[in-house]
Amino acid sequence: MPNAIVWLRNDLRLDDHPALRAALEGGYTPVPAYIHAPAEEGAWAPGAASDAWRARSLIALDADLRSRGSRLLVRHGPTADALARLIADSGAEAVFWNRKYEPTTQPRDTALKKQLRERGLRVKSFNGSLFFEPWQLATQQGGPYQVFTPFWRAAQAQWRVPELWDAPARLPAVPATLADESAASLPLSPRPDWDRSFWQHWQPGEAGAREALEVFADGALQGYHSERDRPDRIGTSRLSPHLHCGEIAPWRIVRMLEPLRNRDNGADIDAYVRQLGWREFAHHLLHHFPQTPDEDLNPRFRRFDWAEPDLTLLAAWQRGRTGVPIIDAGMRELWATGYMHNRVRMIAASYLSKHLRYHWSYGARWFWETLVDADLANNTLGWQWVAGTGADAAPYFRVFNPVTQAERFDLDGVYIARWLPELAALPLPLRFAPWRQPEALATAAPDYPRLPVIDLDAGRDAALAAYRKSGPR
Ligand code: FAD
Repeated sequence: MPNAIVWLRNDLRLDDHPALRAALEGGYTPVPAYIHAPAEEGAWAPGAASDAWRARSLIALDADLRSRGSRLLVRHGPTADALARLIADSGAEAVFWNRKYEPTTQPRDTALKKQLRERGLRVKSFNGSLFFEPWQLATQQGGPYQVFTPFWRAAQAQWRVPELWDAPARLPAVPATLADESAASLPLSPRPDWDRSFWQHWQPGEAGAREALEVFADGALQGYHSERDRPDRIGTSRLSPHLHCGEIAPWRIVRMLEPLRNRDNGADIDAYVRQLGWREFAHHLLHHFPQTPDEDLNPRFRRFDWAEPDLTLLAAWQRGRTGVPIIDAGMRELWATGYMHNRVRMIAASYLSKHLRYHWSYGARWFWETLVDADLANNTLGWQWVAGTGADAAPYFRVFNPVTQAERFDLDGVYIARWLPELAALPLPLRFAPWRQPEALATAAPDYPRLPVIDLDAGRDAALAAYRKSGPR
């Protein structure tokens, strides 16, 4: 059988893998290859936590391939050269891949496709990660959506869930002449190994994704609709890093959840699929507004008086020492696990972009380095949404009060106590705002900041004043 390179990127799985399937159905021997070329991803090359995840995911993928008689070839970029060498060494007649949609990779991949075709290869790319191509849905005027509700209405009107495809139990062997380089040798793990504590919470790889889905379907799915905002509970699927790395196709999630639909959980399944819809919306926006990882979508904010970051305060936010417990708990969860609950992401992001009035990109960068699910589309949308600068954003003047948010969503202060054990001895409601009783705080947690790094009322007032000054759109 002729060989076909199956070029793997953010699609580190075997089931529901359109490129692998195309190679097999085309009568080729798939030669699965991963090319390490972070420099080509520009300013948004994967961050440290997501690299650490990818390292483990690649090892898991190689093991899965080997258990089926194949293996993963690992190469170093530049991508065009590495692919050319692989083609020459394997005599491959075709190259297949699943598309990536980041602004730097799209034009690079289009150029590669053209070059390879000119050299007589069969080249095909596929949608391996979304229900809709980012350019597929359009407003009646033919433009991009900037508001989620009509986007989602259009998506539902054209909703179609692809059939599942299980990779065969045996795959043809990769030619023995192709040299091995182990996935474990890639320089993806952080030094020093700050990620060590992550891995008790996660199992990167396709089997881990499947397991997370099963745990969710058996547990947090019931009540997802109402519990997803509670950081003190396991109320969500925690599938985001698996989805980001493509260890599971979103349509497999939907196909697995739909048969579980009953009288009680319809609203939960709908709410969950809607969140997957936000992921689609994020990719739609990133495609149409490729500048938004670095620039405000709303031009009004070009005149906005962002504060010059004080590096000490920025570090206090990054390391969970702002003196505002719900934010510090979130930032410490992030540091210890590579993940933060969505509600707390919103509160922490609001504090940075409104109370501190730092441009949201300072926060987006920190999340980019520290989140295992760091995803350019979702992170950009999340930050611009909270900061009020993006599409369908919460208006800038709606400033989250972190104390009332904590009282509402971490009702018993359990999340705060989990990540800030030094505050666990404080009674409620003091745990939400410990500066209100300085003596009690000093006794319980002598090392915890006495006051928030920025007074909540003063920060809010300054943010609103700056907003008013920036004028109407
Ligand atoms: P679930 O509630 O189980 O949701 C299921 C899936 O839907 C998620 O895995 C995710 O793929 C998708 N999803 C859920 N909420 C959103 C959303 N608001 N926007 C887009 N997709 C969503 N998500 C990332 O995957 N990567 C990021 O880098 C990222 N950065 C964020 C930054 C900020 C400031 C904010 C406010 C949100 C960010 N999110 C990001 C969105 C969201 O917080 C995470 O997707 C979610 O917390 C992941 O947990 P889960 O898988 O348990 O979510």
